[in-house]
Amino acid sequence: MTRLLALLILTTMTLPALSDTPFAIAIHGGAGTIERGNLSQEQETRIRSALTQSVQAGHDVLSEGGSSLDAVVAAIVILEDAPEFNAGRGAVLTHEGTVEMDASIMDGASLAAGAVAGVRGIRHPVRAARRVMTDSPHVLLAGPGANLFAQSQGLEFKDEDWFVTEFRAGQLRALQARQDAAVQLSEDWFSTVGAVAVDRDGNLAAATSTGGMTNKRWGRVGDSPIIGAGTYADNRACAVSATGHGEFFIRHAVAYDICARVRYTGASLADAADAVVNRVLRDAGGDGGVIAIDPSGRISMPFNTQGMYRASIDAEGRLNVAIYADDAD
Ligand code: ASP
Repeated sequence: MTRLLALLILTTMTLPALSDTPFAIAIHGGAGTIERGNLSQEQETRIRSALTQSVQAGHDVLSEGGSSLDAVVAAIVILEDAPEFNAGRGAVLTHEGTVEMDASIMDGASLAAGAVAGVRGIRHPVRAARRVMTDSPHVLLAGPGANLFAQSQGLEFKDEDWFVTEFRAGQLRALQARQDAAVQLSEDWFSTVGAVAVDRDGNLAAATSTGGMTNKRWGRVGDSPIIGAGTYADNRACAVSATGHGEFFIRHAVAYDICARVRYTGASLADAADAVVNRVLRDAGGDGGVIAIDPSGRISMPFNTQGMYRASIDAEGRLNVAIYADDAD
């Protein structure tokens, strides 16, 4: 009886503490010229459902006590398999019509990070990035060497045809048919995917996965696999995943800059993310947006384009799925 009483008291003492520990997750599926009317009802439904499934998968990991690293990977593999997004299956095509993918992941507790660039045939590039972090002494592996490493890790490969969708082939044809020599890359539509999360232990993680930009050539690599540009996580500040015109995000070290502002100036996450996306990047002419989260589970998702595919489940467990600028966050 006394034991039962003690157990009861212990449970009532520990339960609120556990449920008070904030955990939350946010994901994105890219930013760009996404206006109402651009998407068919059917496309919009498919996109919203993939976003919901992805954020829910990540949140399930967190609510079962899993790590933020596991959560961001669980969320991203769903979007890598969804042909609507520019990552894994459905990734954009290079100038030559091939699929070359980039991905990265970062652990906010240890600042460990892993990334791959220009990989081909790997079903889930984010898993390859994670293996670089956990099973190699390196941070960034590129090209055939990165593919070899992924093979040695037993990761799943698919034929190139599996990745190529008619939609992406059409985008490439349309871009290449344009006579405007200045237009080398598609600059109006980015649908890279990313996730940021904080787990019950207060650990942050961020990850990003992409096919880069349509019609890219010469081994072009964007911000997504660059730690500090497209992805960053530091338990002392925040976790960030970006989408947009990668060259600008690299030049302005966007993900790191947001975390540095939070850490060094004490700025709120919302102010820091807004300043970088809506002032620094906008002034430079860099289109795109970010998702960001801080150790208390506060989420910020600013973008300077017409829309950004995004979803979150906040520390109160509220699900939000949004596309357009006037959708509430
Ligand atoms: N940031 C990516 C890149 O430049 C593109 C995207 O966000 O869709 O490679």
